[in-house]
Amino acid sequence: MENGGEAAAAKWRFGAANPALHAASSQSLRSIVTRLYDTLDHTDPRPVAPLGHGDPSAFACFRAAPAAVDALAAAALSGKHNSYARAAGVEEARSAVAAHLSRELPYEITAGDVVMTAGCNHAIEVMMAVLAAPGANVLLPRPGYPMYESRAALCGLEFRHFDLLPDKSWEVDLDGVEALADDNTVAMVIVNPNNPCGCVYSYDHLAKIAETARKLGILVISDEVYDHCAFGSKPFVPMGVFGGTAPVVTMGGISKRWMVPGWRLGWIAATDPNGILRDKKIIESVIGYRAISVDPVTFVQVSS
Ligand SMILES: *Cc1c(COP(=O)(O)O)cnc(C)c1O
Repeated sequence: MENGGEAAAAKWRFGAANPALHAASSQSLRSIVTRLYDTLDHTDPRPVAPLGHGDPSAFACFRAAPAAVDALAAAALSGKHNSYARAAGVEEARSAVAAHLSRELPYEITAGDVVMTAGCNHAIEVMMAVLAAPGANVLLPRPGYPMYESRAALCGLEFRHFDLLPDKSWEVDLDGVEALADDNTVAMVIVNPNNPCGCVYSYDHLAKIAETARKLGILVISDEVYDHCAFGSKPFVPMGVFGGTAPVVTMGGISKRWMVPGWRLGWIAATDPNGILRDKKIIESVIGYRAISVDPVTFVQVSS
């Protein structure tokens, strides 16, 4: 066709019009922090304290362990890890996570109970997708970590909020959990040590959470990306200790404790000595979802 002689354009039919994506992304921490940053007067010489962005590596006093950096460099230089990894992750990493978590559990988990993810945020994405049966709902903490709401919204999974109680060191309002749950409730989420409240749940409180989940017949998803970052008098106790009372999915990663959020490595672990998650095909479904989503980088998953 000659220049200027094109047919009139049809009405363009596309647009960024996925309402679920808009709802999910507009409330994400990253988009809120970006919007806040855009409102700053950048000519103001005063330094900005970036309290909204939990990335320890941004501060010079927090550095990755030299042994970890050496191992990563050796793994990259070896040329042995340039291939795709299996959907559940590299076996060496799965075994290492299983051993790491088992040290603090009254039972052992194995590599087959662990699936590697591209950070703990990816673990949240995977679990919300796996649980998003039509009509299902999950119970999320308020205050909370908004990635749960975003990911649930994106996959059409209904979420309901229970409160964390400021007068009780931000413990879970377990009466509230019972009042919210119905026959379509599939899981509740706890974050321990907690972001954003900073609390660390006691052994007794975790036991009560497990009892409540057992009574309701629901799964406990325990986000332990801050495991062992417990600075008060209460030691960190993993929720998996109570996996015999109610099935627990433990999620974690190396971002916070090891101060390398850019390395993008996390995990989902079935801490469930009664094998209920296996019977319910949860791990199978996690691996199925992983097969169609992003992979964590292969050479970050090996020791050399
Ligand atoms: C930072 C954070 C995550 C995400 O961790 P990544 O491994 O960096 O993806 C998940 N949950 C909570 C509560 C967090 O604070």
